[in-house]
Amino acid sequence: MSAPHPAPAHPEVCDFTVFGGSGDLALRKLLPALYLRDREGHLPDDTRIIGVTRSDLDDDGYRALVADALTTYVAPGLLDDESISRLLVRVHHVRLDVLDHDDWHHLHGLLKDRPRHDDAVRVFYLAVAPGLFGPICRRLDEIGAADANARVVMEKPVGHDLASAQAINDAVGSVFEESQIFRIDHYLGKESVQNLLVTRFANTFLEPLWNFRWVDHVQITVAESLGVGERGGYYDHAGALRDMVQNHLLQLLCLVAMEPPTYVGRETVRDEKLKVLQALRPMAADDVDRDTVRGRYGVGLVDGQPVASYAEELGHDDSTTETFVALRAEVQNWRWAGVPFYLRTGKRMDRRTSEIVVVFKEPPHAMFPHSEGVTQPNSLHIQVQPDEGMRLHLTAKEPGPGGYRLRPVSLDLSYATAFDQASPDAYERLLMDVMKGNPTLFMRRDEVEAAWTWIEPILTRWATSPDRPLRYAAGTSGPTAAATLIERDGRTWQESDQ
Ligand code: NAP
Repeated sequence: MSAPHPAPAHPEVCDFTVFGGSGDLALRKLLPALYLRDREGHLPDDTRIIGVTRSDLDDDGYRALVADALTTYVAPGLLDDESISRLLVRVHHVRLDVLDHDDWHHLHGLLKDRPRHDDAVRVFYLAVAPGLFGPICRRLDEIGAADANARVVMEKPVGHDLASAQAINDAVGSVFEESQIFRIDHYLGKESVQNLLVTRFANTFLEPLWNFRWVDHVQITVAESLGVGERGGYYDHAGALRDMVQNHLLQLLCLVAMEPPTYVGRETVRDEKLKVLQALRPMAADDVDRDTVRGRYGVGLVDGQPVASYAEELGHDDSTTETFVALRAEVQNWRWAGVPFYLRTGKRMDRRTSEIVVVFKEPPHAMFPHSEGVTQPNSLHIQVQPDEGMRLHLTAKEPGPGGYRLRPVSLDLSYATAFDQASPDAYERLLMDVMKGNPTLFMRRDEVEAAWTWIEPILTRWATSPDRPLRYAAGTSGPTAAATLIERDGRTWQESDQ
């Protein structure tokens, strides 16, 4: 069966309103992504970009801010005057404190004042604190801008726990239909993550092996070498479990573990991901104590340079927030019975990498003499960032006489080399999907809430436990307890250059 409802091939003419138009996300990611797509001719004529901030800027003042951001955040080779001018003509500014009822007539006026395409799609991108999502949606409704032509985009974090996620979803859902709501997890816009689905389901060789019979375990690592820097105030209310595991790592786990949908459609992929989240073995307090490790970075060396500890960056040492998590999860279904999924993420680690490793079982019988300890189990490494690509680790015979001397080798697929082009930033793909009305790569309400449902017992146990996060030196792979977590099962973390 083929896809009955293919998404429109082209973005529709739209008014793309960014609440938080002067923020880090807007200037560093959203406007560069719109610029790069416009440069490729992908933004329809008459598409407008409206930045909403509280600053007293006119259109030209805001355009100068956007031009500056493009110069800062777009690679020099991709900047040209003609494309910059084309984008800037589309850009408008509205001064609006979203909490002030009287301010909204500016935005209302601009949205109504459309010389052509008065039926244009209206995208409202909420690049502001989640506490503003509900008030913004209510006001959009009151000014008549939240009709069937409108779409709303929400950034993570959707909530702080299950109850707050439900409250945000209720507030936004009381104005917009679920089909109009696009919850971004930018990991899903990465080429290598989408390619995981293609590798699994557009080829035949992996699928027969992709189950408990042949897969020994799965590792998912998202490591950052940066610390929290000046974002400590925000981060200290979140921590690694909320900031990374609840969304990015669980989404990656879903794509590894999901069943093949009948076709890649608006709901089918999300239906399958939801089933995985619902199949995660719930964690009781004992399980949390045994199967999770949390850590917090101290001082250390990163790239040979001394760096401050989390407490120093935060300005005090009273916090119990974790900057590192490792955990062992299980997907309780027929395909994955008994296969552990080890997840770990942290800040100030020894490298910046995001990688999924599927480790296969050993051959059932060692028929080559002297091969014990020389061979390694096959493993498939999916490198999400940096240097997107894939490596399949195999065992091969070393050339030459001397009998069967076995050696691990790898088949490498580097995206940059294989396709001779750089991968677009995840936001480029995702913003185009919003403009096309294609929600496949966005998180549905039930997915977000299922993820919180699984995470919440860990949060609860940590909040009541007398233990504090374990200290690890900045520039390392985390607390030693994270190594113990996997080694007690007779396995080891696979580092990305192994
Ligand atoms: P930020 O740099 O602090 O920017 C916040 C923006 O919100 C500013 O443009 C600010 O405008 C605007 N704003 C605040 N209160 C407002 C109000 N009452 N009325 C109108 N505008 C208001 O924050 P950010 O880093 O861009 O992050 C925005 C959201 O995205 C946050 O929820 C964050 O967690 C999430 N997020 C960010 C990133 C990232 O890479 N930065 C990644 C993922 C998710 P003025 O102060 O100029 O008025």
